Amino acid sequence: MKKSIRTILKSEAKDHISRSVNPPVVRASTVLFKTMKELRNHQKDIVKGKNVEFWDYGRQGTQTTVQLQKLLKELEEAHQVFLTPTGFSAVALAIMSMCRPGDEVVISDGVYRPTQKLTDDLLKEFNVKVTWYDPNNFEDLKNKITKKTKLIYVENPGSNTFEMNDLGKIVSLAKSKNIITAIDNTWATAYFFKPLKLGFDISITSATKYYSGHGDVMGGTVAVNKKVYKKVWWYNHVSGYRLSPDDAYLIIRGLRTLDIRMDKHQENTKKVINFLKNQKKIFKILYPYKTSSKEFKLWKKYYSGASGLVSVIIKSKNKNSVYKFVNTLELFGIGYSWGGFESLAVYTDPVELGKRRYFKLEKNEHLVRLHIGLEDPKDLINDLKSSLRFIK
Ligand SMILES: *Cc1c(COP(=O)(O)O)cnc(C)c1O
Repeated sequence: MKKSIRTILKSEAKDHISRSVNPPVVRASTVLFKTMKELRNHQKDIVKGKNVEFWDYGRQGTQTTVQLQKLLKELEEAHQVFLTPTGFSAVALAIMSMCRPGDEVVISDGVYRPTQKLTDDLLKEFNVKVTWYDPNNFEDLKNKITKKTKLIYVENPGSNTFEMNDLGKIVSLAKSKNIITAIDNTWATAYFFKPLKLGFDISITSATKYYSGHGDVMGGTVAVNKKVYKKVWWYNHVSGYRLSPDDAYLIIRGLRTLDIRMDKHQENTKKVINFLKNQKKIFKILYPYKTSSKEFKLWKKYYSGASGLVSVIIKSKNKNSVYKFVNTLELFGIGYSWGGFESLAVYTDPVELGKRRYFKLEKNEHLVRLHIGLEDPKDLINDLKSSLRFIK
């Protein structure tokens, strides 16, 4: 039986030893056994891949992290979910567990900046070839596949610039050529889109963002299907990634309201965009909102909702006046790590976009990324209205 998200996120209090409505935070490096026989039998179960309730060493996790894994497994409809200390280490886990010297990776232009560095700079040193494709052009991706292509890596929509891939086509192509597919799904989360259900092998989420949702935790998740499970398990095992039980607890707490927050982020963002699209000073909005656009159609085809992260392009000969727009916003904090309850604004320099092959800002174009939080959208709109007037 497929459960609704509300059922998945409900408390499992009766299963906790403490019977507390929330799972206990179990901190441990040392785990004790009654006899050597019990220890060995437990290890055998682990090697056999049995679902164990606790591990024999703290690095593998404790009851708190196991509880989070259970929740996410259902949410992502995954074979297993690995937990990492940050979202970026989840990206690294996914990529490094798949690539070996001589392999090639085909990757969408427009991925998160540190992901660009990991693939372009580090993988090169391991003799893994990285080829970039235009996320707006499926044929380009198709042409870049070779016999050596091991992994297609996608981030959807593109970081800061919101390009929409045709995800179904990518999955079909990869399957026909026996290539592994991984996607960074941080923008939508598994609430609005379940990559493994569509056929991706690996789904990555920065739990720092919407999963935890309050701007006070870092963590990452790598959801996998059966096909890649062993390889990811192996790399995870030898790399020593671990999420702390305290952070796992906070992510569980965040997940309790994931659906409610995501629906509200979406609703607020729609209202803010309805305002922004009529503002002369806003040249372009990067977000799947225009029903006639290709982006909207691709988004609609695969996603059940859209989150609160959006970019706007402003045309101005006066960069300082765009800075002033950002600086004078009262309800939008200036900062990077979105996905929390609060609204944010940040002027995004081309440097922060990284080395883009297929996206370019023209002269006098400025990109401001907004995260639309859970505040009253009327207040947010008024705030934007009063600051937009500073743009010259
Ligand atoms: C923030 C982010 C990450 C990295 O997550 P951290 O938890 O900050 O390390 C990865 N991918 C995307 C798309 C992100 O926005």
